[in-house]
Amino acid sequence: MSYSVFRLAREALRGQVGWKPAWRDAAPKPGYDAVVVGGGGHGLATAYYLAKEHGLANVAVLEKSWIGSGNAGRNTTIIRSNYLLPGNERFYEWSMKLWEGLEQELNYNTMVSQRGVLNLYHSDAQRDAYARRGNGMRLHGVDADLLDAAQVRARHPYLDFDNARFPIRGGLLQRRGGTARHDAVVWGYARGADRRGVDIVQNCEVVGIDVVNGKVRGVRTTRGDIVANKVALACAGNSSRVASLAGLRLPIESHVLQAFVSEAIKPLIDGVITFGAGHFYISQSDKGGLVFGGDIDGYSSYAQRGSLPVVEDVMEGGMAVLPMLGRLRVLRQWGGIMDMSMDGSPIIDRTPIAGLYLNAGWCYGGFKATPASGWCFAHLIAHDAPHPAGDAFRLDRFVTGAVLDEKGVGAQPNLH
Ligand SMILES: Cc1cc2nc3c(=O)[nH]c(=O)nc-3n(C[C@H](O)[C@H](O)[C@H](O)COP(=O)(O)OP(=O)(O)OC[C@H]3O[C@@H](n4cnc5c(N)ncnc54)[C@H](O)[C@@H]3O)c2cc1C
Repeated sequence: MSYSVFRLAREALRGQVGWKPAWRDAAPKPGYDAVVVGGGGHGLATAYYLAKEHGLANVAVLEKSWIGSGNAGRNTTIIRSNYLLPGNERFYEWSMKLWEGLEQELNYNTMVSQRGVLNLYHSDAQRDAYARRGNGMRLHGVDADLLDAAQVRARHPYLDFDNARFPIRGGLLQRRGGTARHDAVVWGYARGADRRGVDIVQNCEVVGIDVVNGKVRGVRTTRGDIVANKVALACAGNSSRVASLAGLRLPIESHVLQAFVSEAIKPLIDGVITFGAGHFYISQSDKGGLVFGGDIDGYSSYAQRGSLPVVEDVMEGGMAVLPMLGRLRVLRQWGGIMDMSMDGSPIIDRTPIAGLYLNAGWCYGGFKATPASGWCFAHLIAHDAPHPAGDAFRLDRFVTGAVLDEKGVGAQPNLH
């Protein structure tokens, strides 16, 4: 069933009785050409592009809970491609290009909103670093504008420009950045994959990976064994746990990241704003709530909830740029498990086990990567060779030392 304004009008006139489920709740078959483990945005996008771009439709996505129950449904929905390092920039810009056509591609309203992402700077040194990043982006053909304080004030007059500790001197703006509705992205890819024959199997946890003579032969699940010569892991915060089922140890730590939503207010913040002197980012949802977050909790955990010191830290960051936040009530708060890699950049690569592929290490930034991650991972699975847009995300960089350290903070996952 295609969605269109005519379909909407038709259903409105006949009592909404004609809608069909957007995807089948499939039962697992005994075997597939490829199995994708993890029904988050990345796993579903991978399955979609496997079927659409590579004609590989005998595919299952196995999700231990419901699709979108992990980070895909817990993030603060920011999309951007404002990176400095070439390996990152070409990938995230490819993702941005896919976002720009995603609703037409999926025939689904993923609410992509290019409302702009503004990174505030508070010192001369930080301005220089942002100028360098902006120039790097422009050299890659990506939009970037370095704004001074007056230009930022014209866009966001309610910010605290004269904070004694962190006065706002300007910002780096990517106008094409913005937000998208996270769970609609999950549902859109699920629907697109299902329409092309992919089985989406929920409540199906992978509890074992069968490896014979260095080759993957299938998976064991809570709903039976499944034979597959290609097994692709897209398990985000659980990547280390699932990879260990095949005896692999990953350069990843799992950390909690929290997010917050305030009570709804009238339209105020019409873009994404990030604080430059601490970790704080904020936007306003279409329902009116202010959506914001900050740093990871800083210790390894698989709990999808956070600790109070980080709540305080996030609120402090918010108050430093937006003092009016203090008069709002926080309605909801939650946590997700981040797969923090040692250099802050992701992994899309083969593993030492033939037929076992890995998509992991997305840290704070995997939502904006969803389309390109699925695109590149599907290419890797179909051709057993990396896609040029994602070929910097190699697993062996942690052995060779050719790391992709965008922040330049070294091999400490809690600092990326
Ligand atoms: C609070 C928060 C805010 C964030 N904000 C942003 C943001 O603004 N912008 C941005 O770009 N990124 C953001 N992120 C990061 C982003 O959400 C993640 O990097 C991204 O969603 C990870 O990919 P995914 O969607 O496939 O992960 P997930 O949705 O976590 O998918 C992985 C799936 O694997 C499943 N799984 C795990 N183990 C098994 C198993 N054994 N068998 C079967 N299934 C299994 C899980 O249940 C899960 O559904 C944020 C994350 C959090 C938590």
